[in-house]
Amino acid sequence: AESTHANLNECLDTTINIAWNELKYISTLERQFGEIPEVVCNPQQLNQVFLNLLVNAAQAMEQQGIITVKTWTEPGWVCVSVADTGKGMPKEVQNRIFEPFFTTKPAGKGTGLGLSISVDIIRKHHGEITVDSEAGKGTTFTVRLPVEKEKS
Ligand code: ADP
Ligand code: MG
Repeated sequence: AESTHANLNECLDTTINIAWNELKYISTLERQFGEIPEVVCNPQQLNQVFLNLLVNAAQAMEQQGIITVKTWTEPGWVCVSVADTGKGMPKEVQNRIFEPFFTTKPAGKGTGLGLSISVDIIRKHHGEITVDSEAGKGTTFTVRLPVEKEKS
């Protein structure tokens, strides 16, 4: 497990390319990448988080869905969101999605581990992961990672 400086736009491009075979039949993918500073991170672990979010988004949608991947900055943070126009989640599902082994997918389709592993990875990076979802409309996951303070 190695920490380095990485630009998350590049990490996301890598992950999207890896996931493309699974995603291209399902949805349109839109990138809205902002200009963001590098963060100190383990890029392989972050790619695992982004892959989880992308596969979940794709699995939540029927044919014509759109996945939007955005990056931007907030004071002290680099932010990434993965939004889909899929089936969304009722509150009682939202409340449980970060629990290990919680899944609403049929056996063989989901282990229920993707989001709990993602939470662990983001926590190790001193970041946060949040969800905003509406049943029938779609879901947005947002990841925030701290920007290293300038050394002076
Ligand atoms: P899995 O994908 O194996 O079920 P996850 O931990 O990745 O496990 O997700 C847990 C549950 O959260 C899913 O089964 C699903 O009910 C819900 N979920 C996650 N992402 C989305 C999404 N983008 N849209 C709708 N539901 C989602
Ligand atoms: Mg999953």
